[in-house]
Amino acid sequence: MSIIKPYTFYPKQIIEEKANQLLTQAKNDNYPLNWGAGITHHLLDVLDLNTLWEIIPNDNQGQIVAKIEPSKRLITLNENISELKNNKGFQQSTIAHEIGHWELHINQDEGDGLIQQLELSLNSLTEEKSFLCRVTGEENIHKIKLKIQDDRREWQAQYFAGCLLMPDYKLHECRKGRDLTIWKHLYAIADELCVTISNLIYRLQNLGWIYITKGSKQIYKGPKYIS
Ligand SMILES: [Zn+2]
Repeated sequence: MSIIKPYTFYPKQIIEEKANQLLTQAKNDNYPLNWGAGITHHLLDVLDLNTLWEIIPNDNQGQIVAKIEPSKRLITLNENISELKNNKGFQQSTIAHEIGHWELHINQDEGDGLIQQLELSLNSLTEEKSFLCRVTGEENIHKIKLKIQDDRREWQAQYFAGCLLMPDYKLHECRKGRDLTIWKHLYAIADELCVTISNLIYRLQNLGWIYITKGSKQIYKGPKYIS
């Protein structure tokens, strides 16, 4: 069995459920989720995953933002990308995206098995398989043409990231006393959840709470807007 699962179609609802399960797991393990400071480091603890800042060189397809190497339980963030270092929301989104790959696309038992195998045999030539992620924000993920299964997996990981960082119940809390058609209020919510404004807008549009027409800055109430 490969460490990376064959491509599977997941409906949005299933991806959301999987993200909620992880949040519940963190809650059950008594990990206090500090939303304003970003929740991903708690979740990495829950999953026993590590992060590392390192230069990831470009390959023939261009820049790589981050990668996950399942057998090492390691997420590497590209320290050459200054925005990734300086923008906490983008950093959160990227780590949550990699957690998405871990939860959706990786045979986790197989990952542990591989580590044992490597420890047992120094001569074993185990091919290191990893996800190389080029787009880890909402700004460009919707532009992916979803033609190949790798791209669909990238979309799934990013959708998972949105559900994880902005769960429905948390958005309901944040919207109290606010008007989602006012930019200032949206920026305040993005700040409270430690996400980028693009993360938030994409998520709210997906939920049908708001919509913004292309090329416009005007925010409209979506079909599922709750006053
Ligand atoms: Zn990815």
